[in-house]
Amino acid sequence: MALMKTAYFYGGKDIRIVEEAIPEPGSGEVLFKVMSAGVCGSDLHNYRGHRVRDDVPWQQGHELSGEIVALGDGVEGLEIGQHIGIEAEHLLGCGVCRSCRDGQYHLCPDRGLRHGVRQSSHGFSQYDVCVAENVTVLPDDVSFDAAALVDCYACGVHAVNRVPDVAGRSIAIIGAGAIALTLGQVLKARGAASVVLIGTRRQPVDVAVAAGAAAVGVVLSEQDPVEAVLEATEGEGAAVTFETVGGRSQLIQQASEMTRRGGVVSVLGLFTKPQTIDPGLAMERELTVQWSNSFSTWNGESEFSSALELVRSEQVNPAPIVTHRFGLEDIAEGFAIADDKRSSGAIRVMIRPWGVG
Ligand SMILES: [Zn+2]
Ligand SMILES: [Zn+2]
Repeated sequence: MALMKTAYFYGGKDIRIVEEAIPEPGSGEVLFKVMSAGVCGSDLHNYRGHRVRDDVPWQQGHELSGEIVALGDGVEGLEIGQHIGIEAEHLLGCGVCRSCRDGQYHLCPDRGLRHGVRQSSHGFSQYDVCVAENVTVLPDDVSFDAAALVDCYACGVHAVNRVPDVAGRSIAIIGAGAIALTLGQVLKARGAASVVLIGTRRQPVDVAVAAGAAAVGVVLSEQDPVEAVLEATEGEGAAVTFETVGGRSQLIQQASEMTRRGGVVSVLGLFTKPQTIDPGLAMERELTVQWSNSFSTWNGESEFSSALELVRSEQVNPAPIVTHRFGLEDIAEGFAIADDKRSSGAIRVMIRPWGVG
């Protein structure tokens, strides 16, 4: 029996590398070597003790890319050796509900279930299997690290698809993490006139500006964010404000204050506390507040493929966003670096199960 290494998460900072059998691809499935997998903020929730799971130990790693090594029965149009991007298994739809029939499988009430079993991608593992429908063959010139970041870009593509055309408009982004930076690059590719990006610290804000994700970087400790956006927009406010932080702060109200009359607030951050907004201000400005959750298809087109095309055509630039790489045996260090962005300067940490070389 051929063995592989994979990471199991036992809760908090207890991550163990275990040897186990390489999975076999079932009917309609693809077995692939995982080449890169990003450490997402959601992977850190439990690590930081913010979310307790009852399915200990578990595997994770949903921002991933790889190389096909075996095909299950009935898989057509794919070949062993192909380099692939993978849409995360937790986004699988049931295929028959109204949302799935409308192409909005990210809104499927049974999202992530197959035959009643919860599915997830195991990017922090040398091999993983996925359904063939979640595979996109990579163009030759897209690296594995860039392909692992397509999940983030696709979230940005979906958020931008949901708001009015951003071409020629002034935009604000709250946040300076990987979602904010990839979103800022998508906005630039879609022709946004200028993007003001707001972060709590100077270093990631500077990275965002250098990476082309924003024209203006605002650091909270140095400048009032609402004033900064008004200043950058001739007193009008942003046509669209994207909130990417979530958590416990009252950021939807702050986003509303920096958004112009008739504008849109788009929420990508996951809030863990109820939000208070001033309805008087929202009424006076006739604001639209909307949420954006993951991605699926838009007008019949895969948002994952749209994001991959932005990477391929170099309209977005993943290189400055991937700041660190670790082998699987060093995953604990990779998580520690991703957890403490303040001292590490990390934006996105990649785990490379076959080594960093
Ligand atoms: Zn993620
Ligand atoms: Zn469904």
